[in-house]
Amino acid sequence: MTVELSEEILYDTIIVGGGPAGLTAGLYCARAKLNTLLLEKGTLGGQIALTDLVENYPGFPDGISGKELTLKFKEQAERFGLCLVRREVSRVEKLEREILVYLRTGELLRGKTLILTVGSNPRKLGVPGEEEFLNRGVSYCATCDGALFDGVPIAVVGGGDSAAQESLFLTRFASRVYLVHRRDKLRAQKRLQDRVFSNPKITFVPNKVVEEIRGRDFVERLILRDTKDNSLSELQLEGVFIFIGLEPNTGFLKGTLELDDNGYILTDHRMRTSMEGVFAAGDCRSGATGQVAVAVGDGCIAAIEAERYIEDRF
Ligand code: NAP
Repeated sequence: MTVELSEEILYDTIIVGGGPAGLTAGLYCARAKLNTLLLEKGTLGGQIALTDLVENYPGFPDGISGKELTLKFKEQAERFGLCLVRREVSRVEKLEREILVYLRTGELLRGKTLILTVGSNPRKLGVPGEEEFLNRGVSYCATCDGALFDGVPIAVVGGGDSAAQESLFLTRFASRVYLVHRRDKLRAQKRLQDRVFSNPKITFVPNKVVEEIRGRDFVERLILRDTKDNSLSELQLEGVFIFIGLEPNTGFLKGTLELDDNGYILTDHRMRTSMEGVFAAGDCRSGATGQVAVAVGDGCIAAIEAERYIEDRF
């Protein structure tokens, strides 16, 4: 569908971000017949589009791939008339009765309400070699790059659900998966931990931090530092997958809205932010749990609240 963007139109709702929270908000707004526009700067689906198998979203007893789930969300929202557009927002500003949304392209959009569902991005280790070897052995997406490491040893860095889940997925390809974690205990769910520790292809490497990623044209080894005695060691491998948490995509909101110390958007339980008419939902929200089911719930609440706000004020 070709969508014309115009400064002349005062949209009921502008949604920024096309992950589960944004697509759910879009479904509810479109179904309530609000004139709704969803802006997405990159890949629809956000973090779940990079997830091989979503096993804990209700309704899919055998699990569902993140890509497929995203397509289902999109299809359902579009059936009720949601307009999706690929654009990046650079700034937002509140006027008396409307919210201005400035786009990187230079265009300006106007909304009665704004729903921010901008999600989060992989956190970086910040060690030498990480940037240099990006796409040459360093990756933040097992679903995208796992198959490139068929029959070779790799490392996964991190100790949360993502590190555990993606290590398991990567055993389909790699000859060995070294799971490097800075402590001696994983923080991943028990069920995932049990699967990790019983998988013969995964070697847990506790109490180690990555000091450097080295190689020539491609990654060849990882220099590790022991967190207990500071000793250095090396792992020979061809790939490093980094899953050490997420950072919110809220840089463009600094100074505009109240954020917490880590940059997540502060909201109340009705998803209202510190700016009237602006709501936030999903992983960009302070206190987010990183669960698709929660993002979907947040998106639903934000849409209902936006609708009420419009009814009250316009
Ligand atoms: P996370 O839960 O924040 O875990 C990050 C891991 O990386 C932690 O183990 C942390 O170590 C480690 N870490 C952080 N900074 C580091 C650094 N600079 N160097 C080395 N290690 C570092 O992140 P996540 O695993 O990406 O998960 C994000 C959210 O999504 C969570 O809420 C998670 O539950 C959810 N999620 C759920 C599923 C699922 O339900 N199946 C799957 C994936 C993600 P410490 O343990 O020492 O802090």
